[in-house]
Amino acid sequence: MYSSIATVCLSGSLEEKVDAIAQAGFEGLELFENDLTAFTGTPREAGELVRSRGLKLVTLQPFRDFEGLQGHARERAFDRAEHKFDLMEELGTDLLMTCSTVHPDSLPGLSRAADDFYELGERAARRNMRVAYEALAWGRHIHDYRDSWEVVRRAAHSSVGLVLDTFHIFSRQTELGTIGRIPGDRIFLVQTADAPRLSMDHLSWSRHYRCFPGQGELQMDSFMAMLQETRYDGPLSHEIFNDVFRMGHSDQTARDGLRSYHLLRSMQDDSGIPAPQPIESVAFLEIAVEPADLVPLRELLSALGMACVGRHHTLNAERWAAGDVNLVLNTEAGFTGRVPGRDATAITAIGLKVSNAYEAFKRADKLGYDIIEPEEVGASHRMSALRNVDGSLSYIIDDSQLSRTWDREFPVDVQPIPGGALVDIDHISVALSYHDYLSLMLQYRAIFQLEITPSFDVTDPRGLIQSQVLQNYNGRFRLALNASASPNTASNRFVRQYGGSGIHHVALRTESMRATSAALQQAGTQVLPIPGNYYRDLAARFDLPAQTKTWMQDHHILFDQDGSGEFHQLYAQQLAHQAFFFELVQRDGYQGLGAPNAFVRVTAQQRLEAETLAAHMDGNDLDTRHHNTDESAS
Ligand code: MG
Ligand code: MG
Repeated sequence: MYSSIATVCLSGSLEEKVDAIAQAGFEGLELFENDLTAFTGTPREAGELVRSRGLKLVTLQPFRDFEGLQGHARERAFDRAEHKFDLMEELGTDLLMTCSTVHPDSLPGLSRAADDFYELGERAARRNMRVAYEALAWGRHIHDYRDSWEVVRRAAHSSVGLVLDTFHIFSRQTELGTIGRIPGDRIFLVQTADAPRLSMDHLSWSRHYRCFPGQGELQMDSFMAMLQETRYDGPLSHEIFNDVFRMGHSDQTARDGLRSYHLLRSMQDDSGIPAPQPIESVAFLEIAVEPADLVPLRELLSALGMACVGRHHTLNAERWAAGDVNLVLNTEAGFTGRVPGRDATAITAIGLKVSNAYEAFKRADKLGYDIIEPEEVGASHRMSALRNVDGSLSYIIDDSQLSRTWDREFPVDVQPIPGGALVDIDHISVALSYHDYLSLMLQYRAIFQLEITPSFDVTDPRGLIQSQVLQNYNGRFRLALNASASPNTASNRFVRQYGGSGIHHVALRTESMRATSAALQQAGTQVLPIPGNYYRDLAARFDLPAQTKTWMQDHHILFDQDGSGEFHQLYAQQLAHQAFFFELVQRDGYQGLGAPNAFVRVTAQQRLEAETLAAHMDGNDLDTRHHNTDESAS
């Protein structure tokens, strides 16, 4: 098999698309006819453009509404095909991709269609060309690959073969077993696309929501296993119609496309790519701290029961810990992990613990991800990392490496790690542009073994935020990805204010919200105020003792419950230059991230921002909070 992608996947002109596809490292491309029609050169020049970049022109697509016609309409269909053959001759490609008809005058019947394809095969063969037949999920008569295969089988012509398109197969929930019985040499093209599971008509779902395998929810591994049965050896070609890809950066899309191709190949036994491992836990987070935030941040962490348990041997960096929570506060002015252009207290690296880091990097490398070695970032530690789409680093480490890193790098003023209520990092939430959302989704799901929850919407006062959670098997890794189409939602304001996507909040898990909230209150820590109406609603929704409700209201604690247990949440206010905020949670069997409370939190934060801005404007002190305000909305 070899890698290919349809030009329709990318944004830009044909030249831009071809460049992006070639630079990403694809071997072939499918030319979508609209891209040719809008091209200013001749078809011959389009073909030369593709070949000059070292790419094979796999097919011209699509040819529509061909089969099942009668009389003059049928003759016209063959004339149109001859016209396509002329174009293909000039382009220098031999394969015409034909989709099942949606023509209102077309007649049903597998044999009728097979006769049409036999004749088309004869005409194609005379010109050394081939025809491939695809069952569209919304085809008028043929919308099941088993029927398109039956047409191809009955046509029994060596120039007529089958197209398998994973979207069309999965969107109609067709069984996959028949695929394994199709001889590989009768399949001329395999088109790959994933998608979120949505309940809508097939056409709209296909035209707007397809995504690269690894970004959606379809069972691509089952398909690849069946495909292996056929011994198919042709192009594996992404065909993605996606609104975000159409808007996005072709280079980024094409690079992700090739990684997704490698991900598909890794699903077959002979790939030589190590299997994905689960992320075991978040080993640490590294925070670039603005000098003015250092003292209040230390105070906040102390109030949470954390302590400085070691200092770096050469850099201005401190390791703070409690239970399994580890935070590195780095105040080096030009420290290399820092995200370019993010002039704020921000999370610049995440440590992901796996059981075998070497194998995880080998997999990442084979999938086409760049690995950053410690020397490249001028670090004295020996941990390699991935560069995330937001500019931050993901260190991938295993147990022995982690202990050695702490011992070697933070040997000054070593203190024991405090026990107490704070036990772990519960979840991390990332605000992303839509394009980065899909990229980061692919990165995590391609490299690691993670589960994905269905996507849901958070109601922000200024629009909807789409959210989806990636999690591991034991609940010690939860990552929420958030993106929004509305310009002024919390996630998009983050993206704009801090020069791109990034970590938006970190939730630390406490075993006792009572102890943690009391400690915060005693230390005078500013928490996010929650309106009284929330607690009236809570009393109506849940059967809570009055005392418990009063305690929650006094400490601004949010609450939720699911079939598995209870969840308590509390938010610390952001420091003057802090891009992210801390959440505290107590999780007693509860599975989610408190999604039903998200709109209350988002609204409370926006109210607080507005009040803080107003207070500073009164005091002519605009500078100190400017990071936390939205210039365009003020
Ligand atoms: Mg297709
Ligand atoms: Mg949260």
